[in-house]
Amino acid sequence: MSSDPHSHGHGHSHYHDAHEAIVSDDAPGYYEIMETAVRELLIAKGLITANDIRHQIEVLDSRTPALGAAVVARAWTDPAFKGRLLENGRAGCEEMGISFYDDTQLIVLENTESVHNLIVCTLCSCYPRPVLGLPPDWYKLKPYRARAVIEPRKVLAEFGTIIPDDVEVRVSDSTAVIRYLVLPRRPAGTEGCTEEQLAALVTRDAMIGVIPVTLNDGAAQ
Ligand code: FE
Repeated sequence: MSSDPHSHGHGHSHYHDAHEAIVSDDAPGYYEIMETAVRELLIAKGLITANDIRHQIEVLDSRTPALGAAVVARAWTDPAFKGRLLENGRAGCEEMGISFYDDTQLIVLENTESVHNLIVCTLCSCYPRPVLGLPPDWYKLKPYRARAVIEPRKVLAEFGTIIPDDVEVRVSDSTAVIRYLVLPRRPAGTEGCTEEQLAALVTRDAMIGVIPVTLNDGAAQ
């Protein structure tokens, strides 16, 4: 056994010398202090428990764009499902086993030959979290939030997406209760693909509407 107290090389000894207490030297900011105060108050008043918070974090962490991609692939392959999804986005997702843990409605916007949809939250960062998980950082930043409504074609071009002049660009502004999901166009050349292969092509950004879905190398061959 080595004399190094941190050696894990033999017998998995985990002896440590006494050391200074580990402390965070970052002073909490305004919102961190407010969050702690509100959280402690809610728990103290018995309105929620610490376990409720832990569970909700687990729920949020379980949501990824793979859920939305599965919904899109189903809509591409099942016209009756697509009809129901466009009629009521939330009910369509729930049909696929995706639960909504909040009171938000979901409106699914279909991209077509003549309409390209783009979603934004001009006020803050409202986003279809139950089906996509957390929004990307750029979605939450002021430049995107302000410019998406003022000059959407220019913003799209910066993502490499050139929308022809004869295609209408529709920007939908999310709110606390109404969230949007873009149903992208199914790319040509995917006629023989299975639903799973199609889902693998669908990216988060395509469901926000900043890029189209394209056939990438190998994924759907
Ligand atoms: Fe918002």
